[in-house]
Amino acid sequence: AIVRPTPESDAELAFEGALRPKSLAEFVGQAKVRAQLQLLLEAARIQNRTPDHILLAGPPGLGKTTLAMIVAQESGRPLRMSSGPAIQHAGDLAAVLSSLVPGEILFIDEIHRMARSAEEMLYLAMEDFRIDIMVGKGAGATSIPLDLAPFTLVGATTRSGMLPNPLRDRFGFTAHLEFYSEPELEQVLSRAALLLDLPIDRAALAEIAGRCRGTPRIANRLLRRVRDYALVHGDEAGLGAVQAALELYDVDQLGLDRLDRAVMEIILTRFDGGPVGLNTLAVSVGEEAETIESVVEPFLVRIGLITRTPRGRVATRLAWRHFGLSQSNGALF
Ligand code: ATP
Repeated sequence: AIVRPTPESDAELAFEGALRPKSLAEFVGQAKVRAQLQLLLEAARIQNRTPDHILLAGPPGLGKTTLAMIVAQESGRPLRMSSGPAIQHAGDLAAVLSSLVPGEILFIDEIHRMARSAEEMLYLAMEDFRIDIMVGKGAGATSIPLDLAPFTLVGATTRSGMLPNPLRDRFGFTAHLEFYSEPELEQVLSRAALLLDLPIDRAALAEIAGRCRGTPRIANRLLRRVRDYALVHGDEAGLGAVQAALELYDVDQLGLDRLDRAVMEIILTRFDGGPVGLNTLAVSVGEEAETIESVVEPFLVRIGLITRTPRGRVATRLAWRHFGLSQSNGALF
């Protein structure tokens, strides 16, 4: 996963695992995607075959890994987890593919970061459940065909645009995950509060829901900080505790975090509202362009603070207002 600049401890990861919904019915929101997956899994079940390959696309923390686990669970198949960065050579992929058991679900997170040579191997594997293994080098090199057990590939990507067409075309279905609405996030949060045994009122849940970047993972993380706050201050987890905890962790009214704000500051004050090119922006805030493009921008666009134009990113009028600035005066950050 793309690492956001927030350290995640083991405890935090265990906490995240415990809150993962285990079935499509428990999975909140993404109604369209749920219905699409349901149909695809049901059809495979009726015909007693492996479900078609599935691509899950969208920003981090919206539930791609969770959905992959649910696909395995709902179809009663074992799940193998891997990730693009772990597949640096075709051989890495061959090792995984050749050890799959029949009907296994293979989850490859961040599939856009897989090595090119592995991608080519994957085309054939997805289409014919077969790979060609190259042995030897130079003139003496030969390829040995190897049959694979039928499997379902579930790929996850924050950047479906970066996948080569031949790979994208081999997925039977691409699910585009959207940011969650506030009522959906409230549902995610009240479920999490219940599992955590944390009494919390509606106003507090609504406040967190409005400040978590439309993202369940962030919602759950903020809930945990609110729990800490209530615990340490011997307080109830009410609106006051939420506001104090979120202020302490620099989460503003719109849910923008430090990186979001750094990006906005560069566009507004250094470039007078833009347009600013992606690479300039990335260098200015000291982040990778990929993180800016797939993590920061989708949310800023969605809440209407920036627009993407062919010449670069431009701040909207709402952005100027939110930061209390007017064009060409800058310097309020
Ligand atoms: P990444 O690509 O960064 O791994 P992801 O999109 O795979 O992110 P998940 O790890 O699946 O995200 O989800 C993060 C956390 O958010 C999970 O622990 C889960 O508790 C919660 N979550 C995600 N989606 C939902 C949902 N629809 N309903 C309830 N909880 C959810």
